Amino acid sequence: MTANNHAESASEKPPQPKPETIPRPAPPVSELSQGFWEAVARKELAVQQCGACGTLRHYPQPLCPLCHSDDFDWASLSGRGEIYSYTVAHRAFHPAWKEHVPYAIATIELEEGVRMVCDLLEIDPERVAIGQRVEVAFAELPGQGWMPRFEVID
Ligand SMILES: [Zn+2]
Repeated sequence: MTANNHAESASEKPPQPKPETIPRPAPPVSELSQGFWEAVARKELAVQQCGACGTLRHYPQPLCPLCHSDDFDWASLSGRGEIYSYTVAHRAFHPAWKEHVPYAIATIELEEGVRMVCDLLEIDPERVAIGQRVEVAFAELPGQGWMPRFEVID
C-alpha cells in the first residue's frame, strides 16, 4: 500500500458530526426523581423532604439518610445559594460539552442546606469563586425540556 492509497482509504471514513450538533444526553427520569423534574417543568426547584423527620435531601433517594423513613414529599426551595466548591473541566467527557471547555462544574449549597451539582456553562470559569451567590434559572435545552441552571447574583 502506498501513502497515497492510505490517504484515500482514510478519506472514505463517514463524516463525523460536529460537536455542536450532538445533543446533551437527557437525564434519566425515574419514579424517584420524577417529582424533581415535574417541579423543574414548572420552573421550580424542589427536593425530597422526609415525611417523618422533615429532613431535606438531594439527590432523590428511597430512604431518609437520618431516620430511614420511606415517606417523603417534595419541598420547593428558594433557588438561592452559594458555590460550595467547584472544579474546571478542560476536557469534555461527552461531545455535547466540547464547545464549552473550559467550564466550571460547581456544588451549589442552597439556602435550605441541600447541595446540588451543576455545570456553569454560561459563566466564565475565571469568574467562579467559592462563596459566590447564585440563583437558579431555567433554560429549555434542545431535546431535554426545562433544565435548572445557576446564575451569579453578586
Ligand atoms: Zn427522616
